[in-house]
Amino acid sequence: MSALCVCASGAGRTILAIGAHAGDMELTCGALLAKHTRLGDRVVLLHLSLGERGKPGTSPEEYGAQKRREAEAAAKALGAEVRFGPWKDGDVPQSDDVARWVAEQIKVEKPTTVITHWKNSIHKDHAAAYVLANNAVLFAAIEGTRTVKAVYFTENWEDAEGFQPYIYAGFTEEDCQSWRKAVLAYEFTHAAFSGFDYIRYYEGMQKVRGAQARQPFAIAFDVEAMSKRRVIETLP
Ligand SMILES: [Zn+2]
Repeated sequence: MSALCVCASGAGRTILAIGAHAGDMELTCGALLAKHTRLGDRVVLLHLSLGERGKPGTSPEEYGAQKRREAEAAAKALGAEVRFGPWKDGDVPQSDDVARWVAEQIKVEKPTTVITHWKNSIHKDHAAAYVLANNAVLFAAIEGTRTVKAVYFTENWEDAEGFQPYIYAGFTEEDCQSWRKAVLAYEFTHAAFSGFDYIRYYEGMQKVRGAQARQPFAIAFDVEAMSKRRVIETLP
């Protein structure tokens, strides 16, 4: 199997996408999540924090309520379910207690795939989410829930250091449209909000990764180094 192979979906699975802030997972891999819900898989978005401290001039309480409404609209556009952690923006603790809380979500949702942030990030909450998600998978497995077959790290402009695209997953124009509807539900994705043009960046990446994968559109994931080990019977 080539590293560029885009594998078929198996209907009926659950994919759990664990993001530091509402919006992170939708922006980075939402188009693929839309594809999976379209194919019959169940997708659960888990936002550890609302990301409520990102709007100057608006209180965290007010913006948090807005982000929650936006997250619910985004999930609906993707055909996904959404869960919220209780932690504050900028203050997601990288602790075993929080990882055990995430593990409880894994025990309930029983995902086959977990998607989260890459380990290196300019945002401490993103780096925390990477540790929490990985430790949660471990804690859940130790306590008997071994449903997770793969943990994938999604490509995020804030988590770029050392990220190497390894798994490429293609999707359709229809999935792109679902993604666009989802991410535009968030005010912060509009270029005038922060000055960073999220839509242009992630649309561009979908085309770049698509070209590399010889697909119309694709996103890329990294995986842990140990997951890159391939064992063959004979040379190809
Ligand atoms: Zn974030």
